[in-house]
Amino acid sequence: MSARILVVDDLEANRRLLEAKLTAEYYDVLLASRGEEAVQLAKRERPDLILLDVMMPGGIDGFEACRRLKAQPETRHIPVVICTTLDDRESKVRGLQAGAEEFLTKPIDDVHLMARAKSLVGLKVVIDELRAREANGRKLGVIGEDLRPDPVEQHRLVAGNVLVVDDNATQIKRIRSALGAEHRVAVLGDEDAKAAPDLVVVSVTARSFDGFRVIARMRSGEPTRHLPILAVVDPDDRARAVRALELGAHDIIVRPIDEEEIVARARTLMRRKRYMDALRHRLDQSLELAITDQLTGLYNRRFFEAQIAPLVQRAQCGGDPVSVMLIDLDHFKRINDTLGHDAGDVVLREFTVRLASNVRPSDFACRQGGEEFVVIMPRTTGDIACLAAERLRRSICAAPFHAPGLPAPLDVTVSIGVACASADDTAETLMKRADEALYEAKRAGRNRVMGKGASQAA
Ligand SMILES: [Mg+2]
Repeated sequence: MSARILVVDDLEANRRLLEAKLTAEYYDVLLASRGEEAVQLAKRERPDLILLDVMMPGGIDGFEACRRLKAQPETRHIPVVICTTLDDRESKVRGLQAGAEEFLTKPIDDVHLMARAKSLVGLKVVIDELRAREANGRKLGVIGEDLRPDPVEQHRLVAGNVLVVDDNATQIKRIRSALGAEHRVAVLGDEDAKAAPDLVVVSVTARSFDGFRVIARMRSGEPTRHLPILAVVDPDDRARAVRALELGAHDIIVRPIDEEEIVARARTLMRRKRYMDALRHRLDQSLELAITDQLTGLYNRRFFEAQIAPLVQRAQCGGDPVSVMLIDLDHFKRINDTLGHDAGDVVLREFTVRLASNVRPSDFACRQGGEEFVVIMPRTTGDIACLAAERLRRSICAAPFHAPGLPAPLDVTVSIGVACASADDTAETLMKRADEALYEAKRAGRNRVMGKGASQAA
């Protein structure tokens, strides 16, 4: 997977060295030599990863650059790895607290750097995909600008559920004491380990179970696939750290666990999970909005059109029969004219309730627009569809509509045209026949069901 990496270092020799290494791995490399320049360049170029030096003379240092990158909305989702010769604990924690995803010490270990780059770039690709789909949704108008609070703001709330998978009592105690102040911490196997976790800490040095297997299984299982995983490894065990990243761990922490470090890492991981969850939620919502009729909650015309064509085609190729019923409320214009559009909407919703209790789970009930509805009935012959239509017709006229918003109980009837797809039908010809049947039902006096070509595929 190719990606663009921004390398920021004040020393040309360091920039060239990293550029050569990354280019050899087929990454595109952007270069900057100052903190301010890096922040500007990142905003303009949107790289997939930023490698950031700490000590840069004049202007802002790497910590400040990282803080600014994480503060501006255009760049805060870009992962940052701080690279420095400062090999002390304070610097490391400072870097992570500034929002960096990782802190690497120079001279940089190539294998570790590449494993990190691959893992962080992979994550960024997923985030980009979600962001692009969200932007598309906005363009199509199916995601409102202010549907929900900004996910970026929302994900600032960091408290969450942490699940610890470990068999080392001392280490568990340390993790609990570090993360317990901010989060709810449970240990796998405990009674309280019931809540859905927001972060999983897995020890790959455990003796009683295989931590790698736990990571791999979590990555491949549907409900746990998107969970951030923090792997605990032994110091200087580069091979296992790289293995954990390759298997899908999002982050690594070395034993003995530094409490401030794990707090900072947990925050970054959870913030990112919240951000991605919020984006996914918005997409689900927008998808639902895109296929739902807002007044009735039934499927809309867009959904109907996407469903009907393949079903008709399948019937045509000798597959299961498919029928449609086209339903029109009788004299609906009169209701709107005499009682007003609000009462008209009440009638449409009340009709929907009766319609919904008369269709099978396998049917698709859609509102075509106005007072016209259509039900797609897969695996249904015309005869059965006519029986279903007749049952629906009766349930509408059997009792007057009685609902808040109506001045008095109101008699409502429907006319229904039924058609079943025959061997040479397209979606258009099928709907045309249903439309003709509906027209005949209207002409014959309304409140009735008519079928067209309904028994051909029986
Ligand atoms: Mg420097």
